[in-house]
Parts: sequence; C-alpha cells; structure tokens
Amino acid sequence: IRRNPHESEFHQAVKEILDSLIPVFEKHSKYMNHGILERIVEPERAITFRVPWVDDSGKVQVNRGYRVQFNSAIGPYKGGLRFHPSVNASIIKFLGFEQIFKNSLTGQPIGGGKGGSDFDPKGKSDNEIMRFTQSFMTELYKYIGPDIDVPAGDIGVGAREIGYMFGQYKRIRGHEAGVLTGKGLGYGGSLTRTEATGYGCVYFVNEMLKFKGLSFEDSTVIVSGSGNVSIYAIEKAQQLGAKVVACSDSNGYVYDPDGINLKTVKRLKEVERNRISEYVKEHPHAVYSEGCEDIWSIKCDIALPCATQNEINEEAAKTLVANGVKAIGEGANMPSTLEAIEVFLNNHVLFGPAKAANAGGVAVSALEMSQNSMRLSWSFEEVDAKLHQIMKNIYESSVMAAEEYGHPGNLVVGANIAGFLRVANAMLSQGIV
Ligand code: NDP
Repeated sequence: IRRNPHESEFHQAVKEILDSLIPVFEKHSKYMNHGILERIVEPERAITFRVPWVDDSGKVQVNRGYRVQFNSAIGPYKGGLRFHPSVNASIIKFLGFEQIFKNSLTGQPIGGGKGGSDFDPKGKSDNEIMRFTQSFMTELYKYIGPDIDVPAGDIGVGAREIGYMFGQYKRIRGHEAGVLTGKGLGYGGSLTRTEATGYGCVYFVNEMLKFKGLSFEDSTVIVSGSGNVSIYAIEKAQQLGAKVVACSDSNGYVYDPDGINLKTVKRLKEVERNRISEYVKEHPHAVYSEGCEDIWSIKCDIALPCATQNEINEEAAKTLVANGVKAIGEGANMPSTLEAIEVFLNNHVLFGPAKAANAGGVAVSALEMSQNSMRLSWSFEEVDAKLHQIMKNIYESSVMAAEEYGHPGNLVVGANIAGFLRVANAMLSQGIV
C-alpha cells in the first residue's frame, strides 16, 4: 500500500491472492526464501505514454496509454487492452496481476500483462476510432511482438479496434500475424475466439453444477453486461436449456420474463452499437430500468456477472442468496467485491472465480498464436473442443489444489494456488530475475 498508494483495485486483487496463498507458504518455505511474493507483486515493466489524436472537429485530443508487462516466467506477456474512461494505473495493474494466474491456469505457455487507455470509444466516429488506435499503436509497437508481448481485446476493444491496430503495426514492422489476438478471420484470427470467454464461462459453471447434480437445463439465469463476454455467455446458456431473463449495459438493465431475445441484443450491440434500452421497443412486454445495480435483485438460479469490476457488492450478494441463487460464474474480471465473495462462500453458493471461469478467452487467444505460428486454421469445432477441455482442466486443477491445501470446494483458493504454483516454480528455476 505504501509503494502503490491510491491503487485500490490493485490492492484488492493482491489481497485476494495473498490470503489464498497462506497455506502454500506455510507448507513450502522455498517460496518465502526466494522472495517470490515480493517479486510477483511488482511488474517486470510498466509503460505509460501520451496518445495524441485529432477529432472530427479538428481539435487535438490527448489520452493516456498503458501497458503493464507483469510476469514472463512461463511465456511472453499476454493480456487484453481496455479502452474505457475509468482506466488508470490501478485498474491496469489489477488486471495484469490477475492475468498472471489466469494464464498459468490454462496450462499454456503465456505470461501476464495488460494495457489500455482512458479513451472513451462511446459516441466516436469510425474515423476517430481509427485515428486514435493508430496513434496508440505508433507508441505501443516498440514494446510488443509475437514472442515478447501479445495484446488482445477487452472492454471497448473488439474486432474493429484490433483490426486498425494490426494494420498500423504491420505498416511499421511488417506482417507479424502473432503480434495481436482477436484478429478478424480473414487475416489470422481464430474461429471461436469471439465466443470463447462467454462459452468458456458457461462450460466452467456447468462443471460446478454437474458436481452437485445440477445443470443449466430449465434454470433461470441473469447475465450482466451486453458486450462480447455477455452475449456469448447468454448464447451458450440458452443452448444448454437455460432461460436468461436479464442483461444490461452501463446505463440500465432489461428484464424479459420470456427469455432474452439474443438476436435483438446482437443486432443492437454488435451491429448498431446501440443502448440496451432500445430492446423494449421491439419486445414491449420486457421492462427496462435505469441503473445497472438492481439487476441482481431479480430472482435467479445462476448469475453470470460479465460487465466489469466490483459490480456485485455485499448487499447485492445477500440479495442473490436470499433469492436462492445456486451458482455464480464470473465472466468479467473481479466483478465481486471481497465482501460479496465471503457472502457466497459462507452460504455454500457454487462460486467460479474470474481467473478460472473467464480464462477461456485468453486460452483461445493462445490457440490463435499457435495457429499463426503454424500458418494454418483449425475449424470451429476443433477449437471449441479444445476450449471445452481446457475449461474442464482448469476446474479440475482448482478443485484438486483446494483439497490439497485444506479448503475443499473453495475454488477461489484452489484457482489462486494452482495458478500460482506453476508461475512460482518457473520463477524458482530461473533464479532471481
Ligand atoms: P465489452 O466492451 O464488449 O462489454 C462490456 C459490457 O459491460 C458492456 O455491456 C458495457 O456497457 C458494460 N460495462 C462496461 N463498463 C461498465 C461499468 N463501469 N458499469 C456497468 N457496465 C459496464 O467488454 P467485454 O465483454 O470484452 O468485457 C467484459 C468483462 O469481461 C471485463 O471485465 C473484461 O475484463 C472481462 N474479460 C473479457 C475477455 C474477453 O475475451 N473479451 C476475457 C476475459 C475477461 P456499455 O456498453 O454501456 O459500456
């Protein structure tokens, strides 16, 4: 806290991990003796830079760009870029820190990093997005590369933004397909990458449910957000027989007792880049409410927070529990506060923490890197099958680590420990660096 003042999100992420690791440090002094803890909380490198660009009225705008290269013990830095006005050093550091353990859990050779900008893509023209992303990449290109650091999308960064950034990188450095993931299918992208985080989250929750003899079939589900992760979490939950009754954006939420019409949401969000409030114009029996917090007061069996950090606080968690929620799957990064997690765990709600439940996105990004290296493309079914298997493996290794270290059934502890051990062992082997 002394070294990183005013970084509350980063402190929160570190506290969650370090609390879980106490049994590991008690059992193995080698991690303590080699300063693993002190080293792992300090990014290997953190870059901030000016991003100047000219808006459509000819006015010069300046945003701040970030890239935090947190840990490369098991592979090149890997993690998304977030464009949102709330972005600051604390948010990028918490995301980069979480990414280390998430990437480790996938079993693939990828280190942890994260980046972004406080640029707000909302309301910007296509040309403004292009000028901003080109300026952003004109600085970022110095620090990334297929074997160094491979960014991807996150909030506010989808296929369009990745496309413009890839174009600008190519102009400066030449064609290096593996420098970014989440690319379009026509120039090196992977099938299933768009769906991967949402589908992966549902696959993970399905494993938790199966263990208790439950399933998505005929269950009532709430999914917050209506972006990339949310849309494909809704799609997979519906394919598995669930009724998804609500979704949201940062202005409000829609409750549709007949089940959310995903075709409408996809058109509004993916094609028109419109607000979710428009949904009720086409589905007048549905109800739109301003403000996104109350979405958690809707009764459901399964809640999938897929929007942003700290969207479920203690009070919202208590309401979900009082309404009989059976499982939570964190599609977003750190969507539940530490107090909310306590409420879920104390009330025996099945809880799939973000770094395990939403690892499907980065897992398929790593598969995109593999395909780029081999210069070939796998089919949708092939990538989906690999994603499914990776999510099962993450679930199993989290369950096993939780049991081995004395917290059976606690997947927060299990995922943190399983993710940590692989990175810590690689750091031990590589000496004090
Ligand atoms: P998108 O930008 O596609 O969608 C984000 C959604 O969340 C939008 O509906 C957005 O509403 C809403 N939202 C954003 N900020 C807020 C806020 N402050 N309060 C309420 N709602 C908000 O992003 P993604 O779907 O890609 O990412 C969502 C979450 O999933 C993030 O936490 C991200 O880090 C995490 N994640 C994403 C991965 C991926 O592959 N994309 C991989 C792993 C994790 P609005 O349109 O109004 O802004």
